[in-house]
Amino acid sequence: MVEPLEHLNQHIVSCERCPRLRAWCQDVAREKKREFMADNYWGRPVPNLLPIPTQTHVGKLLIIGLAPAAHGANRTGRMFTGDRSGEWLYRALHKAGFANQPASRHLDDGLTLSRCAITAVCHCAPPDNKPGKLEIVNCQEYLTQTIEFFKPQVFLALGQIAWKSLMDHAKAHELLSSQPVKFAHGASITFNDGRSGLASYHPSQQNTFTGRLTEPMFDSIFAEAHRLLEITDRPS
Ligand code: SF4
Repeated sequence: MVEPLEHLNQHIVSCERCPRLRAWCQDVAREKKREFMADNYWGRPVPNLLPIPTQTHVGKLLIIGLAPAAHGANRTGRMFTGDRSGEWLYRALHKAGFANQPASRHLDDGLTLSRCAITAVCHCAPPDNKPGKLEIVNCQEYLTQTIEFFKPQVFLALGQIAWKSLMDHAKAHELLSSQPVKFAHGASITFNDGRSGLASYHPSQQNTFTGRLTEPMFDSIFAEAHRLLEITDRPS
């Protein structure tokens, strides 16, 4: 029997709900970038990246990104793989013990995640990294199902749009006891069901090249995620 998360991934990969994004991803995959001319671009919606499926008894972290990069995950077919943002993310995940290696370059590079999964607000790369409002709404159902099936104890939203999607999900599922928390690097929230949400600046070049997000700032978010997961692991 296909596991629900794998079944969901199959559904995501064949999704055609957003004509603008589907057409753009395919155009990018056809035209390519000079340095990746030899690559066979993925060009489809990018599925959730799931951990090794053996750890049902421990708390889990769900990382929510914005969308695949045109020549990153839209090329390689794996979340945050083959681009600069991914270099930051996997380095931090490896340091914090959530990934077995500090780099993620292509589908067959041996990367595995431990007790964390990576999803996105939109599973298709958008032009200028900006999905439209309707496209975000179209894809929100996949986020809801990912949360339902993966059952994370801690959420980490990378960037303002991911944080808003998380707050929208919490509002729709009556998980907020007060007003939604505003986005800021290091912002956090405890939901009604005891689960936690964390916010971080997105590790995009716009943030990392300008020093808005530094390596210690990013590492501290994963240290906090670890701390929160350890609390959920403790026997009560
Ligand atoms: S962005 Fe999401 S909803 Fe839209 S086509 Fe891609 S997978 Fe489907």
